Amino acid sequence: MPRKPEYTGVSIKEEFAQSVENFVKEHPEFGYRSIAQFVEDAARRRLEELRAQVKPLPRFEQVNSDENGVKILDRQLHKVVDVYFKPNGIRCTTDQSDKCEHVQFAIEQPEVRAILLQKRKEGWKIDLPEEI
Ligand SMILES: [Zn+2]
Repeated sequence: MPRKPEYTGVSIKEEFAQSVENFVKEHPEFGYRSIAQFVEDAARRRLEELRAQVKPLPRFEQVNSDENGVKILDRQLHKVVDVYFKPNGIRCTTDQSDKCEHVQFAIEQPEVRAILLQKRKEGWKIDLPEEI
């Protein structure tokens, strides 16, 4: 059996409430039976409108990087992921992999790429897809 909805009160100016009530009574063709129903519908529409304007943040964000590795904020996992650069390759500690999407994201960052290209010149085993 569906639960009975719970309600909460919101205060609006008496004058505005009266204006809405008059409109609702004078125009039954719009299907509103009460001020509450009208206000809830108006607020729901506005909320949808504003939500549509909110841009989702990208999944990954580089937090910082140095010659030892890069920290990546993963908004899907809700954590900061470490990707380390070692003489024998690149490693994501979260996925224990050198091919996961964190590594992919890391090597696409120009700053990280510059570090890795330098390390590769120094003889580190760094696989990089050709120039992006
Ligand atoms: Zn990973």
